This record gives sequence, structure tokens and C-alpha cells, in this order.
Amino acid sequence: MNFLMFGAPMAGKGTLANILAEKYNLPTISMGELLRNTSNQEVKEYQARGEMVPMQIVLDVIKERLSQEDVQNGYILDGFPRTPEQLTKFVEQKIANIDVVVDLEVPYERLLERVTGRRTCKECGYIYNTSWNLGYEQCPKCGGEWGIRSDDNEETYKKRYEVYLNETLPILEYFKNEGKVIVVEGQSEPEDSYQNMINAFKASNIKGLKEFIEG
Ligand code: AMP
Repeated sequence: MNFLMFGAPMAGKGTLANILAEKYNLPTISMGELLRNTSNQEVKEYQARGEMVPMQIVLDVIKERLSQEDVQNGYILDGFPRTPEQLTKFVEQKIANIDVVVDLEVPYERLLERVTGRRTCKECGYIYNTSWNLGYEQCPKCGGEWGIRSDDNEETYKKRYEVYLNETLPILEYFKNEGKVIVVEGQSEPEDSYQNMINAFKASNIKGLKEFIEG
């Protein structure tokens, strides 16, 4: 099954994608991370400002990733498509075949609280938030050092949230019309939000989803 994680920045898309990936042995594809890992300086500048990276770069990067061997039997995608223009290309060029869209809902105040606490492992990309109070001084997965993303500050967050409302949220309508959206309450701690998501999957009538989850 191919999943798409949808929701505002800091909603927990990457965190829930990582838990789902581990439990169901699926690769994750994060558009933001793919772009952060390019050597293109211009891309990093767009990201640091919280602005959308130009579409042609995004399309080249995602198409290349989706052509790789390890994602041919399912994946969890996060961060693409993210604008109406990208959605048009996504549909016209059949870039990905999405089965399920997880719409993670978290109130703005909670999102803002999470921004300054996010830590990302410099080695493996594992995401931690100091608000979980687990006291991790380093990555619990690989022992790597924590990094703080250049766009994880309140000022840039406001910009990213505005871009989300104006450019990304409108495309949810397309997936709703396709009957693929599952709304998940995401303001709890990760394991609880994950359980909300699994319960919603089991209750849904999206073809094959319940069977996939129940194995
Ligand atoms: P994320 O890691 O999903 O929060 O994305 C971080 C940043 O990467 C965004 O603020 C954008 O600058 C850039 N980015 C991620 N996905 C896209 C996309 N689909 N189109 C354009 N820019 C993107």
C-alpha cells in the first residue's frame, strides 16, 4: 500500500510515518528530507526561508526517488504533492499511485509549541521532540548527535504555516473526492496518535487497508 501523510508542518507526519514504517516494514519518502540532502545551495535557501522549492527541482527529485527498487512494493510519502500546480503534474504524469491519505489534525497552538523542541538525528533522521520529556541526549536509535533544522524557529514556522494554509490545504479536496482521506487526531504523544491512526485504518472502507493493517 502507498500512504501519503498530510497535515500542517509539525503535525507529526514524519514521526507517525517512521512508526508505521518500522511496524509494517515500509520505506519512508520525505520530500523535505530529500531536498535537504541535495547539494543545491539554492534549495537550502528556499528551505531556510520556509518557502516552496521551485517545482521542476521537486519533480526531478521525487521521480528519481520513486523509480528506485526499494519503493516498488509500497511506501509512506510525506510532503508531495504540496501545491495545486504539483497536484496537476502528479495527476497528469501519474507520478505516484496513492491508496491512503492520512490527514493529521493538530490545533495551531500545539503545532507552535512543538517547533522549538524538534530534534532530528544527524545520522539517521530519527525525529524527537523535547516536549516528550524522554531525556534523550542523543538519538536512541543510532546514538547520533541531535541537529536542529534551520527552519525550526517560530518566525519561519509562521511563514511555513501560512504557505500550508494557502497552497497545500486546498489540494486535500482532490483526495477527499477520491475517497482516500482518513482524518486522524494528532495532538497526543506519538504512540497515542499512532494508535488513533491504526484504529481509523481498521474502521475505514478503503479497499485493502483493513486487511493490510491486520496482516
Ligand atoms: P518538511 O520537511 O516537509 O517540513 O519540508 C521542509 C521544507 O522543504 C519546506 O518548507 C519547503 O521549503 C521544502 N519542501 C518540502 N516539500 C516540498 C514540495 N513538495 N515542494 C516545494 N518545496 C518543498
